[in-house]
Amino acid sequence: MNLTAESHRIPLSDGNSIPLLGLGTYADPQKTPKGSCLEAVKIAIDAGYRHIDGAFVYFNEHEVGQAIREKIAEGKIKREDIFYCGKLWNTCHPPELVRPTLEKTLKILQLDYVDLYIIELPMAFKPGDALYPKDENGKFIYHETDLCATWEVECHPYFTQPKLLEFCRQHDIVIVGYSPLGTSRDESWVNVSSPPLLKDPVLNAIGKKYNKTAAQIALRFNVQRGVVVIPKSFNPQRIRENFQIFDFSLTEKEMKEIEALNKNVRYVELLMWRDHPEYPFSDEY
Ligand code: NDP
Repeated sequence: MNLTAESHRIPLSDGNSIPLLGLGTYADPQKTPKGSCLEAVKIAIDAGYRHIDGAFVYFNEHEVGQAIREKIAEGKIKREDIFYCGKLWNTCHPPELVRPTLEKTLKILQLDYVDLYIIELPMAFKPGDALYPKDENGKFIYHETDLCATWEVECHPYFTQPKLLEFCRQHDIVIVGYSPLGTSRDESWVNVSSPPLLKDPVLNAIGKKYNKTAAQIALRFNVQRGVVVIPKSFNPQRIRENFQIFDFSLTEKEMKEIEALNKNVRYVELLMWRDHPEYPFSDEY
């Protein structure tokens, strides 16, 4: 596959295509100044990103929509150039809620369509206004679902998912790997006892050879094996840095060396919901 900054889409079986590199947009709403996401998405589009990953529950989807619309108004892009992925939150799993929830998202974005709408997590919560419903004892209120769920898969050099990747290859399924840089290491939802990915000596040594950072090596590794990555950054320099992965390629030996870093480290364990009957991370895949 000849990947370039202008051309790094891979085909999907419905005739559409998805750019292998996208911008992640989750940032803790309590700690992130308003407008950061708007600026980040605009910088990313100027840098060449054409895939944006967002969600209603990130509370900044209106900023994503505004950035896309502003860039369309400027003439920088057309709507069809952008691949936007939105997400159905856990309280909206009942089939009759799916369409109205998507319509709400479109209203927030002020766009006519999303390119992909995924089930954010396969664990349903009680429908209602509370996004994280709890009972009087502070226990999460779950909801029964018979959903045959599909969801994005954490994927990076410490969690290379060889079995899942093989299964998906056999069935022509594209994987989108979230947390491709090993997350923001936010203690409230990340297992920070796991080693930080970007400090890895092998990633840094390979990076040195190509004059690239460990982050760029981690991203290139996945993109080169056909896994879509959606690194999040709201920092202009790092947004651009994460896009500079199409001007070099890793050798087969380096790809193998990085594959061998796998430690089955899952940073996003969501242990607070491990008693949910559909908790997905106890399964091998
Ligand atoms: P990432 O692995 O993308 O890491 C993001 C962190 O890395 C941020 O702290 C960012 O800080 C920092 N960073 C970004 N670029 C660099 C760089 N070049 N060098 C060093 N540090 C860097 O983690 P996420 O967990 O955010 O995953 C990415 C996206 O995946 C999310 O934003 C979201 O869109 C999606 N996601 C979906 C999930 C789901 O359940 N469906 C679950 C988790 C994530 P800074 O902004 O300051 O650059």
